[in-house]
Amino acid sequence: MSLRELYIKGIKIDPNIFTFRFGCRCNGECCHYGVYTDLKEYEHILEIKDKIIPLMDESQSKNLSDWFEPAEEDDDFESGVAVGTEIINNKCAFLDKNGLCVLQRLALLEGEHKWKHKPIYCVLFPLTIYQNTLTIDDEHIDRLSYCNKYPVSDTSIFEACKEELEFFFGKEGFDELLNYQQEVLSQVHNGVLNNGNKK
Ligand code: SF4
Ligand code: SF4
Repeated sequence: MSLRELYIKGIKIDPNIFTFRFGCRCNGECCHYGVYTDLKEYEHILEIKDKIIPLMDESQSKNLSDWFEPAEEDDDFESGVAVGTEIINNKCAFLDKNGLCVLQRLALLEGEHKWKHKPIYCVLFPLTIYQNTLTIDDEHIDRLSYCNKYPVSDTSIFEACKEELEFFFGKEGFDELLNYQQEVLSQVHNGVLNNGNKK
């Protein structure tokens, strides 16, 4: 029996997320390249600028015009427009000298959920949404020097990102993912699907 396709909130789920092995072991190299934010996230960050700026250090720019690249059209973003964060001192404009994201630090200082102000693509990485599919961001993983270079454990990228996926899809959507995981793993077990890392 072939594997059914699963869509949650209109997003197709790549079954490879249940078999691709991944371990998160470095100290945030993924933040050195910045991120694409949705237009609404970009606007939100600018709205809270007065709370962000006091958290920034001398390795960052407190000048708003340095924070973002020009906007561009991109259908993988809810509003259809993506805005990339700039790289300053070889790291995302929002990463401080201690390797911490000031957007996350602000949320924690406010006693809010840690990802309240964080762009969703930061939350999801090493997963991503590409062509309306939740999949592995293997292109970005591959260009990083330390990310997942020694996948010695059997942990799948899905297992490594459970908290993030429940945050993104909600409890109901996450339960659907858990059911789909069982279906996928049973097909892998029966030899219908391949196991191992996608390369
Ligand atoms: S996702 Fe990759 S680059 Fe980011 S902290 Fe984890 S191992 Fe490092
Ligand atoms: S916004 Fe924060 S989490 Fe996202 S890339 Fe920049 S520093 Fe990293």
